[in-house]
Amino acid sequence: MTPSAIERPQVNGPSGFIELNGQMLLVDYGKVYLDGTPIGFLYEDGVLKDTNGPLGASAAPRAIDVIPGCVFRGIDTTGMPLELPFAKPGPTGGLNYNGVPLNVINGRLSTQDHRLVGEFEEDGTVYLRDAINKAPRRKLDEHTQLATFFEGRNGKGEPFRREFLRPLYKADKNYSENETIRYFEGFDALTSVQKRYVMDSLKLWSSCGLLQIVRKSEGTAALGSVKHGAAGATGVRTGNVTLDREEFEKEIMLIKRFGLLATVATRWKPYFEVRLNLVVSHEYGHQLEFILSQATQEKIDELYRKQLSLSERRFPSPRSYDGTSELLPQDKILDRIFISGYARQSMHEYWAECVAAFSMKEGRRALKELDPAISHMLEELVTAPEKMVRAVFVDQILDLQASLRLGNELSGNLLDS
Ligand SMILES: [Zn+2]
Repeated sequence: MTPSAIERPQVNGPSGFIELNGQMLLVDYGKVYLDGTPIGFLYEDGVLKDTNGPLGASAAPRAIDVIPGCVFRGIDTTGMPLELPFAKPGPTGGLNYNGVPLNVINGRLSTQDHRLVGEFEEDGTVYLRDAINKAPRRKLDEHTQLATFFEGRNGKGEPFRREFLRPLYKADKNYSENETIRYFEGFDALTSVQKRYVMDSLKLWSSCGLLQIVRKSEGTAALGSVKHGAAGATGVRTGNVTLDREEFEKEIMLIKRFGLLATVATRWKPYFEVRLNLVVSHEYGHQLEFILSQATQEKIDELYRKQLSLSERRFPSPRSYDGTSELLPQDKILDRIFISGYARQSMHEYWAECVAAFSMKEGRRALKELDPAISHMLEELVTAPEKMVRAVFVDQILDLQASLRLGNELSGNLLDS
């Protein structure tokens, strides 16, 4: 399931009961009833509006905290338990999260449309309500919290400011841009065309949090000189990626002239080979493989073997060809088995080429058509990585993705754009 399919309904009202000086009021999706008569509306973040009767006549929005003895108990719109107000007083004011404006009401962190998304404490700690994985209190830390600015008052009513910036991050850039710059060493020295190419290649992976996990676990990428005429290499010992500077520059020209996927003639006539011009995300794909669970890696191997036997049957290599690429007549390009000729070489190159193709919209479309099974697996890796990464990364990626959803980096349309 993609995040867009599980986004919350429009009406952000909880369900349960309000207890008010011995009286019980029914709350149904936010609508508050006294003996069947509507007397107001309660949002998840504890804001009441259009109230009358025992709640007091008021059209203007008010926080539940200002009505003495008023307590709500029930569930929020996602079914997680909710009690309002919170037991201890907290800050009230405006909070900016990775550029997204949020409200804080007595410690309750909410969106402009009153969705309760977490808690903000006096010491600056942020807890998120993860509606997708039904975790009501994910505590963020310096690895999972995005840039945060708070201004308002503390629980005692005194002026209070808080700021959190991630180490080495530029304040004028959002999370995904900052992560890409941290991953790609020497980014600032690139030309603007090269910068755009690197940003585009890694946008999907930085926005879903996997680039950060890969950077911290496996390493970074940098331009350098790679021997044996390869475009890039991923170090087995360090996990760092070195991209050949010349090849990198050439590839940006190729992608401009021929597009992402180029069909090139080979010297084995009349055979052609499909080339994918995405070395940055290809090498990243090798690093990504290292953080996947054993079960996931086995599944990739299984998919690769299936594709390989299909390819061997349908497109056997020309007799004099001693390479491993998938070669085929020009009129069979659309019927090819592998996304690129090179993907046929091994399970590792298959995975790296599929990751690279999946990084860009055009490549995702092609991959979905040619190889729906791996395409589906990559979709799941982005939207529910906890099912596919090694156990040691599960907690962090869950916290990080909840944080990225709130910071508007990871959204339902990430894979459509
Ligand atoms: Zn490779």
